[in-house]
Amino acid sequence: MSTNRFQALSELHYRQPEKVESHGKRVSEYFGENVFAYHKMREYLTDDAYDKLMDCIEHGSRIDRQTADHVAAAMKEWSIQRGATHYTHWFQPLTGSTAEKHDSFFKPIGDGRAIEKFDGSMLVQQEPDASSFPNGGIRNTFEARGYTLWDPSSPAFLVGSTLCIPTIFLSYTGHALDYKMPLMKALHVVDQAATAVAQYFDKEVTKVQTTLGWEQEYFLIDSALYNARPDIAMTGRALFGARPAKGQQLEDHYFGSIPERVMAFMQDFEQESHLLGIPVTTRHNEVAPNQFELAPMFEEANLANDHNQLVMDVLEKTARKHNFRLLLHEKPFEGINGSGKHNNWSLSTNTGVNLLKPGKNPKSNMQFLTFLVNSVAAIHENADVLRASIATVGNDHRLGANEAPPAIMSVFLGDQLAAMLDNLEKNIKAGKMTPEDKTELKLNIGKLPQVLLDNTDRNRTSPFAFTGNKFEFRAVGSSANCANAMITLNTIVANRLIQFKKDVDARIAKGDDKDEAILKELQRLIKVSKSIRFEGNGYGDEWVKEAAKRGLSNLKDTPSALKVWKDKEVQKMFEKLNVLTHEEVHARYEIEVENYYRRREIEALITSDLAINHILPAAVGYQSKLVDNVIGLQEVLGSAEGKAASKAQVELIKHISVAINAMKSGVDKLNAERAKLEKADVEKKAETYCNKIMPIMEGIRDAADSLEMVVEDESWPLPKMREILFTR
Ligand code: ADP
Ligand code: MG
Repeated sequence: MSTNRFQALSELHYRQPEKVESHGKRVSEYFGENVFAYHKMREYLTDDAYDKLMDCIEHGSRIDRQTADHVAAAMKEWSIQRGATHYTHWFQPLTGSTAEKHDSFFKPIGDGRAIEKFDGSMLVQQEPDASSFPNGGIRNTFEARGYTLWDPSSPAFLVGSTLCIPTIFLSYTGHALDYKMPLMKALHVVDQAATAVAQYFDKEVTKVQTTLGWEQEYFLIDSALYNARPDIAMTGRALFGARPAKGQQLEDHYFGSIPERVMAFMQDFEQESHLLGIPVTTRHNEVAPNQFELAPMFEEANLANDHNQLVMDVLEKTARKHNFRLLLHEKPFEGINGSGKHNNWSLSTNTGVNLLKPGKNPKSNMQFLTFLVNSVAAIHENADVLRASIATVGNDHRLGANEAPPAIMSVFLGDQLAAMLDNLEKNIKAGKMTPEDKTELKLNIGKLPQVLLDNTDRNRTSPFAFTGNKFEFRAVGSSANCANAMITLNTIVANRLIQFKKDVDARIAKGDDKDEAILKELQRLIKVSKSIRFEGNGYGDEWVKEAAKRGLSNLKDTPSALKVWKDKEVQKMFEKLNVLTHEEVHARYEIEVENYYRRREIEALITSDLAINHILPAAVGYQSKLVDNVIGLQEVLGSAEGKAASKAQVELIKHISVAINAMKSGVDKLNAERAKLEKADVEKKAETYCNKIMPIMEGIRDAADSLEMVVEDESWPLPKMREILFTR
């Protein structure tokens, strides 16, 4: 940046949009072209093999070797016709990104010849070395093998010349080392629990699916500027940088017209996503400069999550193609909004009913209220677990930062629903209910206004909001794998629904009729879970006080939030529901704590580097210039006049000295704290980084940012915020 900042920047600002190769076709004509979807399998498989595969997907039956061979042959044929040369098991280790290990279809068979080979065993299982993936102590040191196992419920797809097969990833001992395996288990347990409860209302219900519609926020910055910022390149966020005079105050970015270069990028990744069968439909500018959002149509949660993982990858690759870099960090720039990933969540039955959508008659509304109230009660019972599921280093900067929901978990229902629940709570009589009581109650429930449907609330401050026909979990971080939140949410809801069924059945056994038993149990739940409901402004300080009074947790940072995973009751719940064993919960805890401190460690190292070898030299250089100037003025003008003439320069010299000293002593303190940690365990490390080292880093940044405001622009060694954020 140091030579000619103006010239370098103006070149970037006038970069031409990349050309996007158009397919010249409508989306509907090429949507899913790179996916080996089930309707295509039908063409390649025998009826018998196809039926067996469908049975496996729908009922979890085992796939025999012969069927696997058939499917493998079909996948090979389909993908090779499209130019595939390799295949990979595609999985989601606990690193947070996806992993792949490519193997060639081609196999030499001696005498100088080769064939393309891919059979059932290669489809079903691969053995990547698990030793370099996070395992939280699960992996036996002498047994580094891990397995990836095919997930037939998520279709294989083609990226470039590689056939990608979605798989789960587990250790040799059978423990989950990924996100997909527990997600699938959580989806299974919530299916069973919700089906049992839905059968109170409709015996035809035999399966309940979780639906997930994610909304992904992200930043784009020019790749040249990204490369000139080691902090952004290495940590995903700016560790330095004075706030630009213009940030998002004018709110002129949100829903504004999309810059041409960005538009070209969007068209490109949408095409790519559509080829991969990802139903991306929405795109717009977000609140902060250079911030954007995309959202697809919702899908079954396992598939939706795979698609989100894939989209993050497609975004990243497409950004590079367009000379942008993608930032998925939750808070890349201090002082302007960060990025989240709203998870819209609901449950839907095989009979086509969305269980969180109010119905048209008393019966369907009773069902709706049952699922609504149990969801609220589940959050109330396990708010801390839900909080832990979204705890990451990046999200710590976003939650509660006056733009994203606070770290306090609460549920927003909207006035009408809140009033409805309050009414139920008051009007269900204790003791035996008369037929008249019941009829009146049911009539009231039946009147649950249809307008609710359009009542997509405008309360943007709640972490968990009901939005007419689904809940929107807004506290999820933009870089997260949605599975973490979805595993937890579905597990705690399943746990609640199982208990609900037990309690209602117990009431029935004691002589209540079904409706009465359900109503009374709902009333009880409404009462006990009241404290988690909050309709007001989640950004206000009053809420922090009010929440404390209500006894709600406010776990502001990741190390404190993660502690709940050590709770024996929580471990028991996950184990009992067969989602995660207590060893797996513990392993995840270890991995996440370690991940927290490792990321902070990288930030700390880069903070000291940049402070000492980028910023300090620039400040000293400019200070010397000022000193020369002061001496020169005194030589030319004489001591008294020279002094008067150099007053401003002397003030600046002093300011620079103060800031340099603050920066240097901050770095010394930081290194001293780090040195003390050498023998500490990961928990201690995470806590020290959070409570001691972070504040020191902030001090260093303040000093550096104050230097940015006084050192001459020409010699400032890092691209500035205003330069990074307003590139077009
Ligand atoms: P808004 O834009 O006001 O938040 P939308 O209805 O457009 O509301 O939904 C936003 C997201 O919610 C979309 O990704 C959409 O696919 C998803 N969504 C809608 N209905 C459901 C549902 N039943 N289950 C899960 N997600 C849903
Ligand atoms: Mg939304």
